[in-house]
Amino acid sequence: MIYPHATTFFKTHQGKLTWKELVKRTVNSYWDNKLKLEAASKSSLKYVDIDRLSIGKTHLIWSSAGQNTHAITKASIKCRMLLGVYTLQANRHKFNQYEVEPTCPLCKQGPEDRTHFLVQCQHLTSIRQPFIDALSKAIEEMSPGLYQQITPEPTQLTRRSYWNVRLVT
Ligand SMILES: [Zn+2]
Repeated sequence: MIYPHATTFFKTHQGKLTWKELVKRTVNSYWDNKLKLEAASKSSLKYVDIDRLSIGKTHLIWSSAGQNTHAITKASIKCRMLLGVYTLQANRHKFNQYEVEPTCPLCKQGPEDRTHFLVQCQHLTSIRQPFIDALSKAIEEMSPGLYQQITPEPTQLTRRSYWNVRLVT
């Protein structure tokens, strides 16, 4: 958006509210651009949908969370999972000089890494399935046939780059 030069704006005698709104939009636009540029360079934000970040708006994880302690704890875990800093067995294995087993403590079927925890662990299927059903429905509404294409490889659900390509094209 191109804004008029400040002197031009003063000459047109805009009202106080119009001026405040313009200043607010301009300042937010500057910080939005700066945020998105810096966020794109941070590897810890690789799973965050940067295009949806906006100055003055709470991230969806927090705005959709409730206000009780349990809901806030859940939102905190979601954030840590999104940022790749939630500690799973595979992480403990790496950071404890291989003294800790990376095996999933729930199903004992493989290393408990992010992908295993989110989409592969059989022990969590009953908890995960309602979310997968809602996700598949939403994906089918946006791009018919897409969810059927990715079903054979559920690990694709955890890869942001896959979604950018699939949903943009
Ligand atoms: Zn498991």
